[in-house]
Amino acid sequence: MHKITQVKSGIVLELDNMRIALDPNSSIDAELTFISHAHSDHMHMPNKKSSIIASRETVTIARRRGYDITDYYEVFNGLQLINSGHVLGSKALFVDGILYTSDICIRDRAFLQGARLPKCDILIIESTYGKEGFVFPSIEKVCEQANNIISKLYSNGVPVILLGYSLGKAQILTSLFKHWKPLYVYDSIHAINQVYKELGVDLVDALPYSFAEEEGLLKKRPWLMIAPIHGYKFIAEMKSRYSAVTIAFTGWSLSNRYSYYDYTLPLSDHCDFNELLKIVRECNPRKIYTFHGYSSELSSHLNRLGYTSEPLVKRSKNLLEFI
Ligand SMILES: [Zn+2]
Ligand SMILES: [Zn+2]
Repeated sequence: MHKITQVKSGIVLELDNMRIALDPNSSIDAELTFISHAHSDHMHMPNKKSSIIASRETVTIARRRGYDITDYYEVFNGLQLINSGHVLGSKALFVDGILYTSDICIRDRAFLQGARLPKCDILIIESTYGKEGFVFPSIEKVCEQANNIISKLYSNGVPVILLGYSLGKAQILTSLFKHWKPLYVYDSIHAINQVYKELGVDLVDALPYSFAEEEGLLKKRPWLMIAPIHGYKFIAEMKSRYSAVTIAFTGWSLSNRYSYYDYTLPLSDHCDFNELLKIVRECNPRKIYTFHGYSSELSSHLNRLGYTSEPLVKRSKNLLEFI
């Protein structure tokens, strides 16, 4: 018998002989704590009694970001960690026919390979973009659009800042736009790029922002920089000092959520709506739980298609269901 429970700080998977906390963001009483990847909303240091399961890459990145992880398992009896294609080292968890995707992306992007998932009995799937209409163009198309914008601005001597999350998106951008010179990266991104390189990813050496600023390099325009998408103060500074133009890369560019930037283009580290459906088709589960973002929309859609699905987040009680 298994039990899947949604508690405030995450999802708990109870198997016959153990409890596994899935990406808890605060302490959950469980023998095992699965950390799918090193984004901060998925990271919480469990109490000492709980053993951590994570990939070497996740632990390396997390440690560099200040998380104190001493011991962890990469391999654990009966548990399988599968590439989830979201950021470097991100994993889905497969145990006893139950597949937990965490944040997932099935497209290949630059050096990252998209997830390839097995058939399963129960699927616990993220639904960030689980609503009809969220369908992303190809990476090639997005790059072409971005390169055209950069090219026009460059010919007028205008510097361009590409924006994305510091961990994951920024490294993809560093790889996809390495042909633009000079290329600078914000300091926190530089630090993560270094970790990626240590872990074997072939990224170009781009100078950190603070060095370029100190050396007066930014006065020689144009240039390209990669910076954090939520660094509003920094962006405002760069705009007033250098008249930089911003291009943000996020799946939310398909909604109007990000009107702050000069351009937004749909490049995501998550599946789009069609890709979520593709996962469901290929995994062909008996039961689907959706969580995060448009969880009720995705569940309703799946039920209309003839699957059996319900959102995890909508239940207020701790106990969800015996399966
Ligand atoms: Zn994530
Ligand atoms: Zn997430």
